[in-house]
Amino acid sequence: MDYPTIVKPPTEEIAVRPNLTDYNSFRRTFTWDDVRKELSGLPGDGLNIAHECIDRHLGTPRRDKAALLWEGKDGSSESYTFAEMAHWSNKAANALRSLGVEKGDRVFVFLDRVPELYFTVFGALKLGAVAGPLFSAFGPEAVRERLADSGAKVLVTQPDLWARIHFIWQDLPDLKDVVLVCRRQQHETQPHMHLWQALVEHQPDHLKMERTGPEHYSVMHYTSGTTGKPKGAAHVHEAILGHYATAKYVLDLHDEDVYWCTADPGWVTGTSYGMFGPWSNGATSVVYEGAFSASSWYSVIQKYRVTVWYTAPTAVRMLMKAGEETAKKYDLSSLRYICSVGEPLNPEAVMWGLRAFGLPMHDNWWQTETGCILIANYPSVDIRPGSMGRTLPGIEAAIIDENGNEMPTGEEGDLAIRPGWPSMFRTYWNNRPLYESRFKNGWYVTGDRARVDADGYFWFVGRADDVINTAGHLVGPFEVESVLIEHPAVAEAGVIGKPDPVAMEVVKAFVSLKDGYEADAKLRRELIQFARAKLGPAVAPREIDFLPSLPKTRSGKIMRRLLKARELGLPEGDTSTLED
Ligand code: AMP
Repeated sequence: MDYPTIVKPPTEEIAVRPNLTDYNSFRRTFTWDDVRKELSGLPGDGLNIAHECIDRHLGTPRRDKAALLWEGKDGSSESYTFAEMAHWSNKAANALRSLGVEKGDRVFVFLDRVPELYFTVFGALKLGAVAGPLFSAFGPEAVRERLADSGAKVLVTQPDLWARIHFIWQDLPDLKDVVLVCRRQQHETQPHMHLWQALVEHQPDHLKMERTGPEHYSVMHYTSGTTGKPKGAAHVHEAILGHYATAKYVLDLHDEDVYWCTADPGWVTGTSYGMFGPWSNGATSVVYEGAFSASSWYSVIQKYRVTVWYTAPTAVRMLMKAGEETAKKYDLSSLRYICSVGEPLNPEAVMWGLRAFGLPMHDNWWQTETGCILIANYPSVDIRPGSMGRTLPGIEAAIIDENGNEMPTGEEGDLAIRPGWPSMFRTYWNNRPLYESRFKNGWYVTGDRARVDADGYFWFVGRADDVINTAGHLVGPFEVESVLIEHPAVAEAGVIGKPDPVAMEVVKAFVSLKDGYEADAKLRRELIQFARAKLGPAVAPREIDFLPSLPKTRSGKIMRRLLKARELGLPEGDTSTLED
């Protein structure tokens, strides 16, 4: 079915005048230097994300405005002004400094979405340390790999999550100290373990910030590839130009907005747009600690009178499942603008937004490596449902062939971006060659396949690699396979993404067993449990099939492409490299 274009009214007729009123003319005149002038910077060409998000507002009327409205999973709520964010992030910075954290050190957070997560990230940034937020759903193996690769010096976590992973400390020689945030449970300490309350609360709230410049590392996020372990995409303080500009022009944040980004900071969206984008614009940001349910999410919008909402396609599809009637039970009249990212947003979901909320969903595209939104639908630009939208002013994107040459309009190829935008990642941690391999003929190659139409709207086609996108979470098949073959029964494992109507894809594993093991339902359950305990439920396979052996190339590589074709009943394609 073809979906009609959603035509936007003239900007004078839009209730809140968009920050970007005329896409074409703005695109012609946009410069990143102009964006830089809207930020404060620090003396001597310094730049620090925490300063731009928090401290620069202190001399303005925003000082006493709510920055963070926190809704706990137990129904409690807390609110922090920009001045209070400065107070707590300064204390957190002093606490980290007392543990010996210095510029360039990595500080990781493994917490539920509690206020201390945000204080720690900003505290670390103020010291020039590199902040690494982790999903609280991760299992010990996923956490161990990331802490080991980054050489993290301090981990800030909470008792229940620490209980899940504590035994990995012995494998992490660089991890000097662990800080536990004890909001709901108490915990005994041991050498080099500190309780947040004891460590942070008595610290002074004034801080001598470290000097950081635009090219100093700021945050890192691990992202999955087809081979090897997850890679740490490292970003720099200059990225704030991208966060600020896109939160202003794509998310259309205004001073009066109450904004809610549903993403967890373990995913780059929850950092770039759960913290940096809104706060650098001085907007009020809602954080909901709890898990998804249609009723709890609608309650958050109703309670906080959310105006701008940034969410993800899987969540939208789950809301669609709950039905328009559920949405209609709540007063959602505060909403004025909705955006989505992370996976293809079905045209039907865009239209459903119109029926359920009277507002279309605005899809946009970016990835961990790009640091900020690069392709988007804007409040003043017509939407073609199913398209990711048009390039951000200041960004050049193209569809290229395998040699890095631009392809004709309408043809499918690799989605590529001209390097040099401020929030581009600067390296994969400990893996410079892999970073360099992502560039071809003067382009950064994203790993996505897409098309562009004659009017510059980009259309997502699929991934160019085997990476699985399950509910917006990228999973590398290799990391799952590696864990499965640690189980004594498993000889080989091959992992694919199986299409799913809600999560887009679910992780499915095929395993062959060692002699003497019975391929039965009990072992299947045991393997799923085994993977969940190590990797966490977001990454572990949802389904496992047993095969006598897995299809492999002559060089012994498991052919995931063939496993997938067989699973879906599709043609097997070229099997000339299949071993006999
Ligand atoms: P991540 O680095 O985890 O944020 O994942 C980035 C990947 O998610 C992209 O390379 C795409 O494959 C996918 N993705 C993100 N946004 C979109 C979108 N709007 N439409 C389709 N796929 C998307």
